[in-house]
Amino acid sequence: MADVCVRIAPSPTGAPHVGTAYIALFNIAYARAQGGKVILRIEDTDQTRSRHHHEDRLLSALKWLGLAWDEGPDVGGPAAPYRQSERLDQYEKYALQLVEAGHAYYSFTTPEELAAWRSRRGQGDPPPYYAERERSASQNRAETADSYVIRMKMPREGTGVVIDSLRGEIPFEYATIDDQIILKSDGFPTYHLAVVVDDHLMDVDNVIRGEEWISSTPKHLLLYQQLGWDPPRYTHLPLLLNPDRSKMSKRRNPTSIDYYRRAGFLPAPMLNYLALMAYPPDGEEEKFSFQQLVDRFDLGRVNLGGSAFDLDKLSWLNGRYIREDLTP
Ligand code: GLU
Repeated sequence: MADVCVRIAPSPTGAPHVGTAYIALFNIAYARAQGGKVILRIEDTDQTRSRHHHEDRLLSALKWLGLAWDEGPDVGGPAAPYRQSERLDQYEKYALQLVEAGHAYYSFTTPEELAAWRSRRGQGDPPPYYAERERSASQNRAETADSYVIRMKMPREGTGVVIDSLRGEIPFEYATIDDQIILKSDGFPTYHLAVVVDDHLMDVDNVIRGEEWISSTPKHLLLYQQLGWDPPRYTHLPLLLNPDRSKMSKRRNPTSIDYYRRAGFLPAPMLNYLALMAYPPDGEEEKFSFQQLVDRFDLGRVNLGGSAFDLDKLSWLNGRYIREDLTP
């Protein structure tokens, strides 16, 4: 086992997003700087949105940028398969283990009941949809029901803490977290269960992901604890932003890597620019190669402020590469 193991875990639900490349870049730079290993795992548990052609486009876009991984669906590896849709038996196994241990339960609440409860919520109108009877019911009931999900039993009280390598301790209260679905009625896991099971089984020891996942981390930590596993070290990177500091979106900037590829941007300045979004240059010089980034990469130097994606600046950097590196 390599000392450091990271993963890139994209969901193939749309055009290859620059945000995916940005997170991948930081994972790979960290792993390479540490002499560690990179796994690419396809998180395709949302059957309604995941498509194989999105996966193909994503892998090809990341490769065009020059990003490379050591294990993945295209290269294989000891932890194969690397597509979550091909690992369903693992998730079911651990979901059942959690039910047997009393940490999870079968839930038969229909989507309609759920919607009705949600509309009443806030008016002090209990009970919640995952009524006490479901939390304490016998597990055998699932054998007679047509449709059910498995939910985590979130503690009703108490506090916990997420430790983020950049932010330090982030406290949370269990009572604010609903009983999360971990296994859906179609037999697919939800993100929470799949990510924990896979990060554990694939020996991932550093999870470096976008800060939009911070609120999921308490659920993941609880699953690690209930399954008796050591959690990884968590690092949540700042999001790419629009100029108005909202999360980068198509309305304000092109977000597809394919757009930049077709528009004549080069891979090297793209990676250089994505690095600058959260990593300080060495002195005044903002132009640096991926290898130069790896040579001085220190995860602790990531800038948490969050940067606005600035097409003019990317174009300027791209122009410098063309003038300085391509022009004879
Ligand atoms: N599949 C998630 C995504 O699409 C990955 C989240 C994570 O890194 O835990 O971003």
